Amino acid sequence: MKKVAVVFVLAVIAPSLVLAWLAVRSLRDQQYALERQRFLLYQGVADGLAKEAAASLTDKEHEFVARVQTMLAAANPRQLATDFDQRLRAAWPMARVGCAATLTGEILSPSPHGPPESRVFLADNAKFLGNRETVEVFWNYGKDDKFANNSTQSFAQNDSSKGPGISPEENGESINNAYAKKLGKVPRNVVPQQQAAAPTKEDILGQQYSKLTSAEAEFRQLIGEETEGTLARFLDNKLNVLCWYRPPRDTNVVFVAQLSLAQIKNQLQSIVTELDPALRPDIAVAVLDDSARPVALSRPEFQANWKRPVVSTEIGEALPHWELAVYLLDPTKLTRSAELLKLTLGLLIALLLLSIGVGSWLIVNDLKRQLALARQKTDFVSNVSHELKTPLTSIRMFAELLAEGRVADPGKRQSYLNIITAESSRLTRLINNVLDFSRMERGEKKYEMRRLDLIALMRETAENYRPHLEAAGFALECEFPQTMLEVTGDHDALAQVTVNLLSNAEKYSGSQKSICLRIEEKAEPLRHVEVQVLDRGPGVPRNCEERIFEKFYRAHDSLSSGIQGSGLGLTLARQIARAHGGEVAYRPREGGGSCFVLRLPLVLSQT
Ligand code: ADP
Repeated sequence: MKKVAVVFVLAVIAPSLVLAWLAVRSLRDQQYALERQRFLLYQGVADGLAKEAAASLTDKEHEFVARVQTMLAAANPRQLATDFDQRLRAAWPMARVGCAATLTGEILSPSPHGPPESRVFLADNAKFLGNRETVEVFWNYGKDDKFANNSTQSFAQNDSSKGPGISPEENGESINNAYAKKLGKVPRNVVPQQQAAAPTKEDILGQQYSKLTSAEAEFRQLIGEETEGTLARFLDNKLNVLCWYRPPRDTNVVFVAQLSLAQIKNQLQSIVTELDPALRPDIAVAVLDDSARPVALSRPEFQANWKRPVVSTEIGEALPHWELAVYLLDPTKLTRSAELLKLTLGLLIALLLLSIGVGSWLIVNDLKRQLALARQKTDFVSNVSHELKTPLTSIRMFAELLAEGRVADPGKRQSYLNIITAESSRLTRLINNVLDFSRMERGEKKYEMRRLDLIALMRETAENYRPHLEAAGFALECEFPQTMLEVTGDHDALAQVTVNLLSNAEKYSGSQKSICLRIEEKAEPLRHVEVQVLDRGPGVPRNCEERIFEKFYRAHDSLSSGIQGSGLGLTLARQIARAHGGEVAYRPREGGGSCFVLRLPLVLSQT
C-alpha cells in the first residue's frame, strides 16, 4: 500500500503540481506581456502626439518665414524693419509681438512707445536681441528634425547615453543634485509611473531628468550662420517662444516674432482632441506646461494627479519642459484585472488540487476494495475447499465402514446412512450455491416462475430439513397461518433461499439450539408475505448488517471461529429474492438473536 502511495505521488500528484505551477507562470507572463504591450501602445500615442506638437511649431516657424518673405516682396529689409511689429501683428494673429534687430545691436522695431506688450517685450528682450547680454535659452541647434521629442519610456531601458554612472551608495537629495549636475539636466516635474520595468538610474534616485539642455549665449552667437530658427526662454518663469528669420538680401537684419502662448495652446488643444477614438474609453491625453499644469486636454472634464501620468514625452526645445502625458481613465482597471487573474488562478489551482484529492481518494478506495475482494476470493477458495473436504471425509469414512460390513448393529447402520445422506445434501447445497452464484455472475441464471402455495413450499422445505436439524440437537418451530398464500416464483430457488437461511441459523446459533420459521402476511406498504427465520444466536455484529449480503463477505471468520462457510449464502438469497420482486433483510431479533426476513409480493388475485 505504501509503495502504491509513493508511485501515486510520483506519477500523478507531483507532475500535476508541476503542471499547475507552469500554467500559473505562463498565465502571469501572458498578463505581464499584455500589460507591457498596452503601455508600449500608450507610449507610442504620447510620442506620436508630442511629435505632432513639435511639428506644428516647426510649421509656425515656416509660416513666419513665409509671411516675412511676402512682406519683403514689397519692401526692402530696412524699410520693413521700421514698422515690422504693427505689420506682422496685423497680418499674423499667431504673433504677439514682431521685432526687427540688426546684428550690430540696433533694435529697429517695435517702437519704445508702442502698445504695452511691445514695451514689455523690449524690456525683456532688447538687451538679449541687441547682443548686450547672454541668456539661458533652449533652441534647436539647426537639427533636421527640429523639435525632436524625448520620450520617457514607461518600460525604461538601460540608457547608457544618459550620462556618467552614479555609485549605488549615493542617495538622497544631494545625489539628485549631483546626478543633475553630471547630466547637465534639470529634474522633471512629471514622473511617469514605472510599470514592471527594470529600474533605471533615475528610478534609483526617485527622480527623472529632462533630456533637454539649455545654452547660455548672446543672440548673435546662437543664430550663427543659420537663416531661421526657433528658440525658447523662461522670463520670470514664463515661457517665451521666439521665431526668427534673416533674409539673404540683408543678413545683418533679423526679424523676430514672439509667438502667442494662447495661440500655441489652441494649436495643442486641436492636436490632443484628435486622439484615436478607439483609445478614448481608456485614456485621456494632456499637454502639461513646465509647471506640470494641463494646458490642453483630450477630455475637458478629466482630473488626475497631473504629475503621475502612465507615460509621458517631452515635446522638445521649442516648448521646453512641456510634456505630452497619457492618463488612464480608470487606473483601478489594471489592478482589477490583475486581481481577477489572481482569483481565477487561485480557483483553478484549488479546483486542480480538489480533483487530484478526489481522484486520489477514489483510486485509493477502489484499490482498497480490489484488495479486499482479492483477499475474500482467496478466503472463498480455502473456505469452499474446506467445506467440500469435511462432508467428503465423513461420507467416505462411513461408506467404507458399511462396505466392509464391519457394522453389525442395524441401528448404527441406519445412523451412518443418515449421516451420509445429510452430508451429501450439505455437499449438494454448497455446490448448488457455487454454481448458482457463477450463473448469476454471468447473468445466466434462469427461473421457472409459476404460481405456488408458499405455505406448502415452506412446510415441505422445513420438513426436509428438520431431521438434519434435530439430529444436530436443534428444535425447529414452524408458525404458519391457516390461509393459503400464493406467490409467483421458482420452487427450487425459493426453497434454496429458505434452506440457506435455516442452515445459517444452525451454523451461527451457538449453544441456543432453537430455530423458528414463521410466515406472516403484511398489508403495508403493499400486500406481501414475510418468511422469517429466527434464531437465538449472538446475531450479526454491528456495522456488518448490510455487508453480510456482499459476495464472499463473512462477519464470522470461518478459520478463526471454526464455522464453515463460503460467504455466498446470503448473496444468493438476496439475488433470488430480488429476482422475485422481493428482498432479504436482516434485523436483530427481540430478546437476542437474528431475524432474517424473506419478503415476497403476494399474487394479486389472492384475497
Ligand atoms: P457463510 O457461508 O459465511 O455463512 P453467508 O452469505 O450465508 O455466508 O453469510 C454471510 C455472513 O453473515 C456469515 O459469515 C455470518 O457472519 C453472517 N450470518 C449469516 N447468518 C447469520 C445468523 N443467523 N446469525 C449471525 N450471523 C449470521
